[in-house]
Amino acid sequence: MQYLSTRGHPERKRFCDILLEGLAPDGGLYLPETYPQIDDAALTQLRRAYNEEGYAALAFRILSLYIDDIPAADLKALCAKTYTQEVFGTKEIVPLRQLEDGLWIEALSNGPTLAFKDMAMQLLGNLFEYELARRGEELNILGATSGDTGSAAEYAMRGKQGVRVFMTSPHGRMSPFQQAQMFSLQDENIHNLAIEGVFDDCQDIVKAVSNDHAFKARYKIGTVNSINWARLLAQVVYYFAGYIQATQGNEQKVSFTVPSGNFGNICAGHVARQMGLPIDRLVVATNENDVLDEFFRTGVYQVRASEHTYETSSPSMDISKASNFERFVFDLVGRDGARTQALFADGVGRAGRFDLSQDAVFQDTAGKYGFVSGKSTHADRLATIRDTYQRFGQIIDTHTADGVKVARERRGDLAVPMIVLETALPIKFAETIQEALGRAPERPARFEGIELLPKRVQQLPADVERVKAYIAAHCD
Ligand SMILES: *Cc1c(COP(=O)(O)O)cnc(C)c1O
Repeated sequence: MQYLSTRGHPERKRFCDILLEGLAPDGGLYLPETYPQIDDAALTQLRRAYNEEGYAALAFRILSLYIDDIPAADLKALCAKTYTQEVFGTKEIVPLRQLEDGLWIEALSNGPTLAFKDMAMQLLGNLFEYELARRGEELNILGATSGDTGSAAEYAMRGKQGVRVFMTSPHGRMSPFQQAQMFSLQDENIHNLAIEGVFDDCQDIVKAVSNDHAFKARYKIGTVNSINWARLLAQVVYYFAGYIQATQGNEQKVSFTVPSGNFGNICAGHVARQMGLPIDRLVVATNENDVLDEFFRTGVYQVRASEHTYETSSPSMDISKASNFERFVFDLVGRDGARTQALFADGVGRAGRFDLSQDAVFQDTAGKYGFVSGKSTHADRLATIRDTYQRFGQIIDTHTADGVKVARERRGDLAVPMIVLETALPIKFAETIQEALGRAPERPARFEGIELLPKRVQQLPADVERVKAYIAAHCD
């Protein structure tokens, strides 16, 4: 399998080359040249693999369709090492539970940091360690986080050979639980940098360091952001697992609703559907930051300025532009790299906006590709959390609540099972649960008292040179 750039660069690459890279050289995102097709017989085999051998076996079969530069035995071992009951809490890894008639929740948040990002990041940690060892190389991951991504990256990379993590976060602005999750890690290769500033300052520092090409090369700086194809590919697997669990024994269609921010999670659903998984609808759920909902309703993609990017109670969806969206648009415009380049590099780059409302392909978003969308607000989240608790005795997190709210509105054919992806556990957003229910969510036993553990964190001013000096001092 070869990979190409969404912006038409002629070069083709193999999986392990793009694994350690960010953007393609022309600024595009990597996608496979073709989507491997799963016919009925192949789907039956995948069903059997999941039911009889488990999630790791399913993951291995799907990943092998896209990865041909890691020997099969090694890839199988990497999957087996990643997707264990010990790390993800259940034999199913992503168990499905019913909420109401025909509406299901797929639990993706039982990994080490209680958010779905673990599903991909845990695999990425093992893939990085494997590939770096094979090449005799090292990698220093520099990132900025306001919560979920940073902790998922740290828990995936802790103790891994050849990898260090330098994770900046805004000092004093993460929830006590999130701070404790990250800062309690005592592994030598994990460095928490609490920056005296806001999240944007952290992001600016990461950008400035990445733009210093000499420093970047000298210290082998890399990232683990959501545009990494390996992360997206890992996420394709749980769409198959959700489908298999919802349709035991009959080959009907299902729909998925996905609480969305950077469009990474739902883009994996798009890939699964392009492979032939019988998905009816892919429902994009946004919060008040509704750039994606606006596109799927109107055909206008309008990046938000920072003063129009709101801080909400589903903070992991507070985005102003969706970094993975270009992948879907590339498929939508018939894989025309020049056109994608014009829309994103020239269009979004220049004006932050493009308009496909008058273009025939816009009809395909819902028709050929099955996308619909909806939006949820703070009041909707509170109401949905309350209703779900009162009627079903279940507490769902704020992001999942956005999903459930929009899923009910956009279900379409009620005979088609609707699966809402649970992207985090409620304990991560306890304040809003308290506001909705007047009680705190349960805390998994392994997180009892983590706020009291010793913290490993370095406080630094929002100063690029100071961050560079810290990295340099901890790299040799
Ligand atoms: C990252 C995240 C999202 C958004 O996922 P995307 O892939 O960026 O669309 C939703 N919910 C939670 C809890 C997250 O951590």
